[in-house]
Amino acid sequence: MSFSNILAQQTAVWLFKKALQEEKLAHAYLLTGPDGVGKRTLAKETAKGLNCRGDYPQLETQNSELKTEVIWPCDRCRECRLIESDQYADVMVLTPENKSLKIETIRRLQRAVALKPYESHFRVAIIQDVDQLTPDAAHAFLKTLEEPPQGVFFFLTTQYRERVFATIQSRCQVVFMKAIPKQILEQKMIPRPIISLAQGSFGRASYWMDPEIGERRKKILSALFLNHPLDDINEKASSKEEERLLMEEKLLLLESGFRDLIVWKKTKEESLLIHWDYREHIKNFAPRFGINELEDKIISLERLTQGLDRSANLKLTQAVLELELASLTKAE
Ligand SMILES: [Zn+2]
Repeated sequence: MSFSNILAQQTAVWLFKKALQEEKLAHAYLLTGPDGVGKRTLAKETAKGLNCRGDYPQLETQNSELKTEVIWPCDRCRECRLIESDQYADVMVLTPENKSLKIETIRRLQRAVALKPYESHFRVAIIQDVDQLTPDAAHAFLKTLEEPPQGVFFFLTTQYRERVFATIQSRCQVVFMKAIPKQILEQKMIPRPIISLAQGSFGRASYWMDPEIGERRKKILSALFLNHPLDDINEKASSKEEERLLMEEKLLLLESGFRDLIVWKKTKEESLLIHWDYREHIKNFAPRFGINELEDKIISLERLTQGLDRSANLKLTQAVLELELASLTKAE
């Protein structure tokens, strides 16, 4: 990874490169944009830029003008490699637990930033999904943002800027990152259904390209379009959280499958289908149902998805899904 591998975010990349070169990095940034567009990567690249000790001869002169002529950060030195693998002592990455950033996490952060850096002159804290700060934690964190310790840089990320406490936003420079245009994902040779499922996010594209996940997608779509039994894939989960995520994935795929059936009924336009590789099945299957019936299915799936946030009974969700799919066979 390096700045050049962050796709379609020229403005944000330029902003951070310039701030690094001119040594004018602000003490706190709020990176906002859809999931998987490179917010965390950009924060990490900037952390590398602060700490990189690349062995390019021209850099040893410390002439800041020369920095613009080389690949920076180098991505090869010890610092860059440790930061890349989240093992550098002076770069912390904080993520929510059970969708919540709690006050204990913020206290841990405050203790760490109060200490002198271990390895370099700078400390970087990347706080992901900062919209999930609890009110207590936000209040505590605000104090740190108001009086940031010397040499500490904060990078906060969020998909939902409107949910971030205004008091926190007002103490950060806000950097907007946009969804990655379809053409850029196409240039990267990402297959068609994946581009639709990725919704402008490189992170989501890599997720769906994982062969194991691809295999799950096949099974779920075969359950929908070919009446194959719907695997209780949740049994393979190793934790409650993983089980919930697998169920969320299953619901999302089924919902997008039903959407494809509606899209085909309404438009007869292959290019608009998400699961383009299943287009023949979609064409055969769609005439059996009315649009209202398919819309009801989508509403039912959306309800189940919302239920997942309220720690719904996953066994029950699975049972409802099996019934929904069985009702499709009966409609034949
Ligand atoms: Zn380096």
